[in-house]
Amino acid sequence: MPEGDTVFRTARMLDATLTGHQLTKSDFRVPQCATLDLTGYPVESVASRGKHLLIRVADLTVHTHLMMDGRWDVYAPGERWRTPAHKVRCVLANDSFEAIGVDLGLLRVFPTRLEHKAVGHLGPDPLGHAWDPEEVRERMLMRPDLPIGLSLMDQRNLTGIGNIYRSETLFITKVHPLMPVGAVPDLARIIERCFLLLHANKDRNRRKTTPTELTDPYWVYQRTGRPCYLCHTPIEQMPLGPPEKDQERLAFFCPTCQPVPYREQTEPAAATAV
Ligand SMILES: [Zn+2]
Repeated sequence: MPEGDTVFRTARMLDATLTGHQLTKSDFRVPQCATLDLTGYPVESVASRGKHLLIRVADLTVHTHLMMDGRWDVYAPGERWRTPAHKVRCVLANDSFEAIGVDLGLLRVFPTRLEHKAVGHLGPDPLGHAWDPEEVRERMLMRPDLPIGLSLMDQRNLTGIGNIYRSETLFITKVHPLMPVGAVPDLARIIERCFLLLHANKDRNRRKTTPTELTDPYWVYQRTGRPCYLCHTPIEQMPLGPPEKDQERLAFFCPTCQPVPYREQTEPAAATAV
C-alpha cells in the first residue's frame, strides 16, 4: 500500500504539471462523477494530506485515495498509456500534460469548502506544514491500551504511516508491535522517527530505511525468516490490523531486538518471591 511519502511525491508531480493551467480535458470514469466536465477550469493547487490527494479545480476538490494499488501517471499529450484503459479512473489534461489516475481506491468531487469533512479527522501529517508531534502523542495516548503497532497506523493519530513505516520505526526504536501505547517508554522518539523516515524518503524514488552500507532497503519489512541485521535472529511476522486486509497488514519484527511486552510483568513476580 502506498505510504505518505508516495502520495507526497505524487502530489508534487501533479502540482508541477497541472497547477496554474486550464484543463483541456477531464474524464471521470466513475458513475457518480460521470457527467462532470471540468474542461476550461484552472487547477488551483494539488496537495497531499497523509495518504489523501486533493486536486483543487476552480471551487471544487477532486479527492482521491490510492488505497492498495492506485497511482497517478503523467504523459505527454497523445502519448500511448502504459496501462490498460479499463484501469483508468480519471483523466485530467492541459496543453502540455495528461495525468491519469489508475486503480484509484477512492475518487470523488465536492466543493473545496467541504474539504474538512473529507480529511478533517486526520491527525498531523509529518510531511505537512502543521506537523505537531506533541499533538500526535496526545492523540495516541487517548487509547493507551491499543497496541503501538495499530496506533501508529490509525490515521486519526498521525497520517501517512502504513505497514512499512510501522514495522521499520518499531524495529529502529526496539519496541514490539503489541506493546500497549501507554507502556511504551519513549513515545515521542517513535513519533520523531516516523517524521525523520518520511522526510528522508520524500525525495527518493526507492524507499530506504536502512543505512547506505546495507543493500537491503528495510530492516524487517517483508524479511520474514531472514536473519536480523543486528542480532541474526530470524525476523518474524504477525497479522496486526483489519482481518480483511491481513496480507497488507502484517507487522514484521525481530523477537530479540523487540522483546515481547508483558515479560516484565511475569519476571517481577518471581523476584517478589525471592
Ligand atoms: Zn534483532
